[in-house]
Amino acid sequence: MDGGTLLAVRGLVVSFQRDRDGPVSRALRGVDLSVEASEIHGLVGESGCGKTVTSTAIIGLLPAPPARIEAGSIVFEGRDLLGLSAEERRKVRGRQIAMVFQEPARYLNPSLRVGAQITEMLRLHLRMGRQEAEARAAELAGLVGLGGARRVLQTYPHELSGGMKQRAMIAMAISCNPRLLIADEPTTALDVTLQLQILRLIVRLREAFRMGILFISHDLRLVRTVADRVTVMYAGRAVETTSARDLYRGALHPYTRLLLASIPAAQKRGTRLKVIPGRVPDAQAIPAGCAFHPRCPLAEDRCRVDMPESREHAPGHAASCHFVGKPWPD
Ligand code: SF4
Repeated sequence: MDGGTLLAVRGLVVSFQRDRDGPVSRALRGVDLSVEASEIHGLVGESGCGKTVTSTAIIGLLPAPPARIEAGSIVFEGRDLLGLSAEERRKVRGRQIAMVFQEPARYLNPSLRVGAQITEMLRLHLRMGRQEAEARAAELAGLVGLGGARRVLQTYPHELSGGMKQRAMIAMAISCNPRLLIADEPTTALDVTLQLQILRLIVRLREAFRMGILFISHDLRLVRTVADRVTVMYAGRAVETTSARDLYRGALHPYTRLLLASIPAAQKRGTRLKVIPGRVPDAQAIPAGCAFHPRCPLAEDRCRVDMPESREHAPGHAASCHFVGKPWPD
């Protein structure tokens, strides 16, 4: 890692309200998160924890209404993105911050050849001429492992396999040399072999382009494979942040410990796989105090009324729990 902090999200609060008199869902309740230049930062948690709302807010695609950013800042390379006009945000998006999604088919234009879609990005954002853009598109297709790059560029998205669609989407995303790439569950729809190939590609691209990557996944195994640092989210807040190595060696937050214990490969043969009891709370009904208390084996009375703030327990290792270090019940 080098180059200092690329992205700093501080105290981000996002709510959703479908009707004027309808209930308010507080999807994010003060998210803190940072991505250093050239690092891969994993963002993990179960579905419904707020990972995708966080990434959508960073890229500037939250539908408003019903979404409303109530508080916080998203500082990217020294500028608070929340203070920019819609036009300025559009320029940052694609050019400086790019995103790949879980289902590339939904984001690729079905009626345009893959090559034309990459070329269009280059012409729009980098003002390249047609020939230069086409040559660069072929180069990018080769870089992301689209074998027979020139032929693949002539195909329509529906002619590509799932893995190739994801590679095409990654080629589009990196076409303008973004400083930050957000990869939101980029391998979830793929089989295990393809997952590994895409993960290796992401790691290679980070090195080739020297960009920061926010890698979002519900799967701690995948995050372990690629991330330098990890933030764990629960009920719209970041509950633990540390290096990937320290997370796997000594997680502090009970939620993280349970997530790790529920990974099949993390279990010794013959031991029972742990399941986290209960469910992620609905954003309209977040429990008082520590939102994790109804599911936490370490919860005490204090946890039901007093929300724990994030504290640094070791250099670079922060967790929000009143009882870090309390022994685990048998
Ligand atoms: Fe569990 Fe209490 Fe810590 Fe929350 S604050 S994670 S309920 S021990």
